[in-house]
Amino acid sequence: MENLIKAQQLVNEAEVIIVIAGNKFAKLEGLDLLGQDSFDQDFPLIAKKYDVHSIGSALDLKELAWSEKWFIWSQLINKYSLMYKPSATMKQLKELLNKKKYFIATASFGNFFEKAGFNQNRIFNIFGNWTNMQCSSGINHGLKNATKVATQIAATTVLTDIEKLIPKCAVCGQPMEIHLPITSHFYPDSDANARFRWFLTGNEATKTVFLELGVDETSPQLFEPIIHLVDEYKQWSYVAADYTQAMLPLTLQNRSAAVNTDSASLVQALIDGNK
Ligand SMILES: [Zn+2]
Repeated sequence: MENLIKAQQLVNEAEVIIVIAGNKFAKLEGLDLLGQDSFDQDFPLIAKKYDVHSIGSALDLKELAWSEKWFIWSQLINKYSLMYKPSATMKQLKELLNKKKYFIATASFGNFFEKAGFNQNRIFNIFGNWTNMQCSSGINHGLKNATKVATQIAATTVLTDIEKLIPKCAVCGQPMEIHLPITSHFYPDSDANARFRWFLTGNEATKTVFLELGVDETSPQLFEPIIHLVDEYKQWSYVAADYTQAMLPLTLQNRSAAVNTDSASLVQALIDGNK
């Protein structure tokens, strides 16, 4: 681990922490999008019927009937989100953030931070949250909670029974779909996005650490824009689990610490440095 003392110091001195959590962090919470190790074992019906062997490829399936889509989504949501138990790292992160003002911007759509007990108004799921659903018509008819219907559907494997359970839009009657950018008409959660922007604006002059956890090449949207943002305000600094110091721009060298490790080790070290 590089720069650990500096990372601890920046975090300890900060009043505000903004967590930027990527796909590698989701992996710590059990959701490995591209992994093929246990998919066939966990979802034998899906693997066999559709010849897919990872969550990512199951979500990418096109040309399915609505009952089939909801069958797949409900099985995945049930295992990874409804039955989710926070990891040791998630619990430590909570301990760390409880002492600060915080906001969490995450690319992981598994509803983990909400379920781990963080303030729901302080979370922005950039790529959606699959325990929510949106209208499939292409028109934004709002977000609805999908946990109840996912629980019901996950309990049945008969497609004709699932057919009757497919949720419909209250505005136009079209089938609902999970809230992920898997179609061309994904609408980000504009309320959460607005809350995030207000939070940033309100803390422009506050000592703030952007804490990057598990941001990798599958979530580049979480690197460049955040670096530019931090660069703009002198009170803001950047602590990164996954990068080396050399990967950060020269203008940020004084107020950044890239430790080049995994999220679990960094969070553990920050807890140890906070005692
Ligand atoms: Zn609709």
